[in-house]
Amino acid sequence: MSFRVKFNLVLLLTFALALLLATTYYKNEVQKATLEEVKHEAILSLQAALAIRSYASQHVKADFNQEQFKPDDIPAFVTMETMRLLFEKYPGYQYSETVLNPLNLANMAREPWIREVIENYRSGRTPYADAEITTYVRDKTLHLVRPIKIRDGTCMACHGKVADAPAGMVRIYGNTHGYGWKMDEIVGVQAVTVPLDRSKERSAAAFQRFLWPLVAVFALLFATLNILLQYWVLNPLNRQNLSLNRLATTDSLTGIMNRRAFMDQFHLEMEAARYKSEPLSILVFDLDHFKAINDTHGHAQGDQVLRVTANLVKGALRSNDQLARIGGEEFALLLPHTSTAGARGLAENLRKRMEHQSLQNSPATTGSFGIATWDGRESRERLLKRADEAMYAAKAAGRNCIVADESRAKTT
Ligand code: GH3
Ligand code: MG
Ligand code: MG
Repeated sequence: MSFRVKFNLVLLLTFALALLLATTYYKNEVQKATLEEVKHEAILSLQAALAIRSYASQHVKADFNQEQFKPDDIPAFVTMETMRLLFEKYPGYQYSETVLNPLNLANMAREPWIREVIENYRSGRTPYADAEITTYVRDKTLHLVRPIKIRDGTCMACHGKVADAPAGMVRIYGNTHGYGWKMDEIVGVQAVTVPLDRSKERSAAAFQRFLWPLVAVFALLFATLNILLQYWVLNPLNRQNLSLNRLATTDSLTGIMNRRAFMDQFHLEMEAARYKSEPLSILVFDLDHFKAINDTHGHAQGDQVLRVTANLVKGALRSNDQLARIGGEEFALLLPHTSTAGARGLAENLRKRMEHQSLQNSPATTGSFGIATWDGRESRERLLKRADEAMYAAKAAGRNCIVADESRAKTT
């Protein structure tokens, strides 16, 4: 896995983790904030209902003795109707006044949980405090509930004794229910009901508004870091690697391959030769009486001879041939697609050039050449050893000549 891939993976994982943490935290916060907002709206609605009810109680003067009973005289009715008008614009919002013992059966507290809430107020299990509002969340709905306590005589005019109640009203609602209320008794609850679906939608929208900028910031960061990584880290590193690689594989005196690079190339060429079933030859040559050059002309001159020889040989090679300095004044050539005869031809060419050069320039140098062709099975070391031995045979034969070891060469 490349460094860039690893880097980006770590970056992505870090972001994913950060996003997960931020998301969990933020989602929670947004939900809480939205719920608070919705609650606030519901409280405002309930306060509005209380204000309407209070106004209706004080200013709508009912004539309870009249035969014609009008529900509009009842504060609870006025409040519920006004709130119904208000909530027409807010689907799902509701205001209700439900009691345990109503005149109008439509206002009967029917749901068991709301009856229990009322009973808890009546029994004191839920402590009653003036204008106390309790919040319940049931079935994706928020209920703000406030107890209705009988604190003035206005209510008792209708809800006290049947005999005292307006005759017109008794005719409408009957004489069996809705009576017998007592002062300071908790008879039911006022409730504002708000659906929480919209609060969910709101928090989801708020969350999206938070999420996309975060993703955009990350994408920008991701791109910037990758560009910086390329220009500040990878490019200099690649350049350094290239020069280190050059240093590790090049002979500093002549600029050609060193022994280590030669052995690597040797391995690759052997694989290729095996795959293509082509011949592969090795040519090794060593400068003759080189020590004498150093001794006579100095080490610097000796170095110069090594450089000149390397250039001379490079100039005579075919495109696939590879030259290396594998020892002090010993060179090797890797010759792909080349049989012993082909290697011999090249060696002869090189030998002549060196001889020619040595005649023209002082100090004079010739070379002794050894050739070995791969048998298709032996190791690099073994093949190189055979070429080396052939080269020593050339030395023994008087130098400035070529010997090929044909003992193991493949016969094709
Ligand atoms: P032969 O014909 O048997 O090969 O004789 P030779 O003198 O060439 O061989 P020998 O092994 O006796 O000496 C090789 C010399 O090459 C000895 C060493 O100082 C010299 N030499 C090795 N590396 C370098 C180098 O990098 N620069 C110089 N100037 N001389 C080197
Ligand atoms: Mg020598
Ligand atoms: Mg030598």
